[in-house]
Amino acid sequence: MTVRFDEMELQAPIIRAVADMGFEEMTPIQAGAIPIVLSGKDIIGQAQTGTGKTAAFGIPMLNSIDPKVKALQAIVLCPTRELAIQVSDEMHKFAKYLHGVKVLPIYGGQDIARQIRALKSGVQVVIGTPGRVMDHMRRKTVKFDQVKMIALDEADEMLNMGFRDDIETVLKEIPEERQTLLFSATMPQPIREIARTYQKDAQEVKVIKKELTVPKIEQYYYEVRPKNKLEVLTRLLDMYSPKLCLVFCNTKRQVDELVSSLQSRGYFAEGLHGDLKQQQRDRVMNSFRNGKADILVATDVAARGIDVDDVEAVYNYDIPQDEEYYVHRIGRTGRAGRTGRAFNLVVGKEVYKLRDIQRYCKTKIKLQPIPSINDVTAVKAEKIFEKVANIIETEDLSKMIDLIETKVNEVDYTALDIAAAFLKQAIGSDLSGESIKEETTEDFGDTGAEKGMVRLFINLGKKQNIRPGDILGAIAGETGMPGKLIGSIDMFDKYTFVEVPREYASEVIQVMKDAKIKGKTVNIEPANKK
Ligand code: ADP
Ligand code: MG
Repeated sequence: MTVRFDEMELQAPIIRAVADMGFEEMTPIQAGAIPIVLSGKDIIGQAQTGTGKTAAFGIPMLNSIDPKVKALQAIVLCPTRELAIQVSDEMHKFAKYLHGVKVLPIYGGQDIARQIRALKSGVQVVIGTPGRVMDHMRRKTVKFDQVKMIALDEADEMLNMGFRDDIETVLKEIPEERQTLLFSATMPQPIREIARTYQKDAQEVKVIKKELTVPKIEQYYYEVRPKNKLEVLTRLLDMYSPKLCLVFCNTKRQVDELVSSLQSRGYFAEGLHGDLKQQQRDRVMNSFRNGKADILVATDVAARGIDVDDVEAVYNYDIPQDEEYYVHRIGRTGRAGRTGRAFNLVVGKEVYKLRDIQRYCKTKIKLQPIPSINDVTAVKAEKIFEKVANIIETEDLSKMIDLIETKVNEVDYTALDIAAAFLKQAIGSDLSGESIKEETTEDFGDTGAEKGMVRLFINLGKKQNIRPGDILGAIAGETGMPGKLIGSIDMFDKYTFVEVPREYASEVIQVMKDAKIKGKTVNIEPANKK
């Protein structure tokens, strides 16, 4: 069931502004939260990034502002300056036709005297970081006595960043007969405690996971060795050349390392993680937004809540620790009905983590072979040919043709030589790349196994006193692959056939060659089809 904004009891100017923004239907968190806030109740709203939480609290908040009262009436607390600005921009758009309603972002790093002047001009809604709001509270440059609503945006993130005391100080200062709106992507215990202490009879709205998965995202994974990760990433970047993309790492150190490796290879990459100062964050985000950098490398926490449209691809350089993070990460692409792509670089046993992710997200992540240098070159050449075709069609090339003709007559090159040299120059970057020595998805041909499986021959059987359980135990034990993934085991007197999932076959063969079963050396190879 979908609900439109004009079906809500909202002031006409807000409905008009929302229509201008191109919003038609509400997102699930909005449909759930807005009626509750309008009814005057407290709320706990939980939904992932990118589901429209800003409007879920921002619209009913603005709806409640009395334009005639020139005093602070509502506060939004956000974890970072970046987010405060983002939320404030969106709120300004909602308030476009609301005459006499003033919205102001306040955050650290901005000239406080200017903020104080702005606050004195009759601002009704303040969007700020906890630290700066508290600062103004102490200076008495904001007064809370007429505040009737407060929203905590990205509450989990604010706690992660150590703002708990600040938040509580602010909450204690606001009149008790207020509405407290709490929004968060996750609901850890400390958030529950804040809710219990500072909210009254709060209604909970939780957007269930099924609605969180994003079908328009094509998801792939590549099996790589750690030392080849960088090379594989750059090939994928070259192959798909996304306009803007996000690369996720699990640690701050990895972010720094990857950014400098990419930069030294000539990519326009910038890094974002929790150690950066606000000013650095701003610089990075600005260069990403205005296209000076097209690759943003980030940790989960740093990327949280950042809203950039047009992210064409997400690369998981490291597989996320937590399944929920996967949803958050890939949700950054494929926005607004566009198709997005997500690429996962998987090392060894991480394939099991990937299985868990697929199960959790009810999604399919497809295995792909690592593109070869030739693949990358072919794709780049194709793109250049498209541009060239366009130039041939639309521009006058007679002067250029003259020049080339003269050159060809002068020297010992053919026109084809010259074209090839231009192409090489246009493709740029060294085409040699680094070689990747690894079998990714070896083609075992038809081994007579079930679909998706490879049938392996093992030179041990009943006569050697081996039982199916020994084979299962050895394979599971040596490779770490769960035993339940192993398929049928057919035992004969002197040999055995065992089926394993195709993507593990190489590893199983590799590992079992050096292993022993019941003290006996193992000979293992793909079976011939009967
Ligand atoms: P969240 O806070 O949950 O991460 P945002 O409030 O930042 O999400 O919204 C994400 C994006 O979706 C923004 O660009 C916003 O303008 C857009 N958006 C929000 N609600 C709607 C809607 N009902 N229809 C279309 N776009 C929407
Ligand atoms: Mg948000």
